[in-house]
Order: sequence, then structure tokens, then C-alpha cells
Amino acid sequence: MPNPNQSLARERAARSRLLQILRGSGLIRATWVKLNRPCGSGVCKCATAKRHWHKSWSISQSRAGKLRRKSIPNRLRDEVDGWLKQYWEARELLDLVSEEYWARLEKKPRRK
Ligand SMILES: [Zn+2]
Repeated sequence: MPNPNQSLARERAARSRLLQILRGSGLIRATWVKLNRPCGSGVCKCATAKRHWHKSWSISQSRAGKLRRKSIPNRLRDEVDGWLKQYWEARELLDLVSEEYWARLEKKPRRK
């Protein structure tokens, strides 16, 4: 049987972290995709061997059944990485709050 005080504390902590995220720098639902490919130039080093292929990063998201993808320049990588992490953390926190309410409904009814 879960301790109701503990579960209240958990819920409060999750809500307050959620608010912090929402007031913060931004969030985005996406996952990283690492691309490795030749640039197509015959004189570039990448034309000689696969190990010289250019690395680049994109983010992708499936939305309404369609895949959406956006290439992210190196200078934005850290910022976008922050947004991604915030999104996934917020989602976990939402789920945690939701679980508390499931637990509340599943508890035996009692008078207040
Ligand atoms: Zn190249």
C-alpha cells in the first residue's frame, strides 16, 4: 500500500519541475537522427572512402502519420538538445502525475 504522503510529495515535485520546464527555454518533441553521407562532390575526401563521409545531425518527428525531419546545424545542436531533453522530461513528469491520479482512483474509497 503506497504511503499517501509520499505520493503527494512525488506529485508536488513533478508538478513543480513541470512548471519549471514550461517557464524555461523551450521544448520540442523529436528524436536525434545521425546522418553519414557523401556530399556528392567528386573531389571531396568523402568520395574516396565511407569513413570520410560527412556526419550531420537531424531531428525527426512523426506527426499525423507523417515523418517530419529537420537538419540541425552544429551551432544549434546544444540548444536543440536541451529542448529535446526538456520535452522528454516533461512527458515523463506528466505521466508520473497521471499515475498518481490512477492510484487515487484505484484506492479503496474512504471518507475525508
Ligand atoms: Zn564531401
